[in-house]
Amino acid sequence: MRILFVEDEQKVALAVQEGLEREGYQVDLAHSGEEGFFMLNSGQYDLLLLDLMLPGRDGLEILKTMRQKNMTVPVLILTARNAVEDRVEGLDSGADDYLTKPFAFPELLARIRALLRRGRGEQIMRFKMADLEMDLVTRKVSRGQNIITLTSREFDLLEYLLRHQGQIVSREMLARDVWGETERATPIDNLIDVHIARLRRKIDDPFAQKLLHTVRGVGFILSEEAP
Ligand code: CA
Repeated sequence: MRILFVEDEQKVALAVQEGLEREGYQVDLAHSGEEGFFMLNSGQYDLLLLDLMLPGRDGLEILKTMRQKNMTVPVLILTARNAVEDRVEGLDSGADDYLTKPFAFPELLARIRALLRRGRGEQIMRFKMADLEMDLVTRKVSRGQNIITLTSREFDLLEYLLRHQGQIVSREMLARDVWGETERATPIDNLIDVHIARLRRKIDDPFAQKLLHTVRGVGFILSEEAP
């Protein structure tokens, strides 16, 4: 389980990181909102611990932007603010839970466990980006009025990209999570590129707005705007 902790107070950040790592979590630290947002885009996290009072873009701005981009990672807000309206604003902005500083470490652990359980159990049945829609129940994909027919691999690939929309997805991630290749002994990068090209021909080529973008040297991103 990978956790990203966005916290500008170094002492708090390190103490929480150390405590969580003792519990077996992998914890990355970001010291500003911008850094946190960048890491969230490039990495793969199961949970975001977010301080609200940050230099530059504050936690609420980060949260709102994430949710606008349909990034579904669970978010636990940690903050010294404890006014009711702050809590409400945090939850309205897309936070999943809220913990006021100072907090007891066992309570943080309990909240994290609860969110991670919930995150796994929650099933999304439908995705939408611009006019691209995917229904996981009927397995129908469309752009506007146009039905798009995909092979099952292309469907899985698009589903994965939609689940990570707005984030860069590397070939390693696709190999591991879509193709189930756990070893990098036989890289399947060419195979991935072929499938990406086929998918692009179906979901993008006939349409003015392009959604599937290549990030040179890194991977791919499904996004309404070119990266
Ligand atoms: Ca702070």
